Amino acid sequence: MTLPQDEINQCVVLREKHNIVLENRPIPELGLGDVLINVKATGICGSDIHYWLHGGIGDFQLKAPMILGHESAGIVADVGPGVKHLKVGDRVALEPGVACRLCDQCKSGRYNLCPEMSFAATPPIDGTLCNYYKHAADFCFKLPDHVSLEEGALIEPLSVGIHSARRANIKSGDRVIVFGAGPVGLLCAAAAKAAGAGHVTIADLVPSRLEFAKTYYTDSQVLLQRPNAGEPNMEYSRRMTQEILKTEELADAVIDCTGAETCVQMSVLLSKNGGSVVLVGMGGSVQALPISEISSREVDIKGIFRYCNTYATAVKMLASGIIDVKPLITHSYPLSDSVEAFKHVKEGRDGAIKVQIIG
Ligand SMILES: [Zn+2]
Ligand SMILES: [Zn+2]
Repeated sequence: MTLPQDEINQCVVLREKHNIVLENRPIPELGLGDVLINVKATGICGSDIHYWLHGGIGDFQLKAPMILGHESAGIVADVGPGVKHLKVGDRVALEPGVACRLCDQCKSGRYNLCPEMSFAATPPIDGTLCNYYKHAADFCFKLPDHVSLEEGALIEPLSVGIHSARRANIKSGDRVIVFGAGPVGLLCAAAAKAAGAGHVTIADLVPSRLEFAKTYYTDSQVLLQRPNAGEPNMEYSRRMTQEILKTEELADAVIDCTGAETCVQMSVLLSKNGGSVVLVGMGGSVQALPISEISSREVDIKGIFRYCNTYATAVKMLASGIIDVKPLITHSYPLSDSVEAFKHVKEGRDGAIKVQIIG
């Protein structure tokens, strides 16, 4: 270990629901193929907020204290045995899910579906919001000098966008509609554009989000109305779809980043015959869908679980300027003010898009 003896490792720990504390933990020991990362930038994600407020997401429930955070970049502080492609001082983005590399899914390249996946800040696995994080070297991606660590931390949500554009099979000139203009929706729009989409529409309930979206890889923006009191979901979805089609056309691909049943229904209705609907958002676990539309018009519904094989692509996109993620970083806080940063994201105030914890 090349670090000074008195080096501390402050960690942002979720002890239980509603209770985040800063704890000093030992600096992890490195094993074969590991590197130690001095984490410099971490974006706060909706899932971190969800664990904080609810103590779990679906099957992943907090049973013991866990370090939060998974959207990180940092500097290599030490390398373990067997690491060849990284050295101390390298600047890297961290792909937070480490797969087994041996199972059928891993060998077929869809390692995001690996049953042995250990993913940062998904109970019981600790996250990256700490000074020093031990990570598998082959899940660290070197950043070129002109790509900042703050940008590198945005590769995680950008990966969701790249994976969704691939799953949607977006081709040159395609029309794409994205539901939800939060960070992930915006990055899905950006990735769709980068994949060649000719026209990207984004839809949201919040006017300020659409105002920002006007400046970010979208060609048109649709303000969704709320359902009338007592209006059944499918009725609302058909009515709203007719509204949307006054200004928009049916899409080759629709990417839903909300998880809301009505948005998934509208995604099907707004898809061309033979189009794709990609489900990025996580909402109700059982939802009513217009199955007859899906069958008779051959609409392909595709699930999304995180991403795979996206980091190297994302680094090249940032390096070449094909996608600029800098405008999304609206606020940053030091690690010591993490609780404030979490509150800021929860309240969504001051036009917050991506809030990062720095240092
Ligand atoms: Zn995330
Ligand atoms: Zn595997």
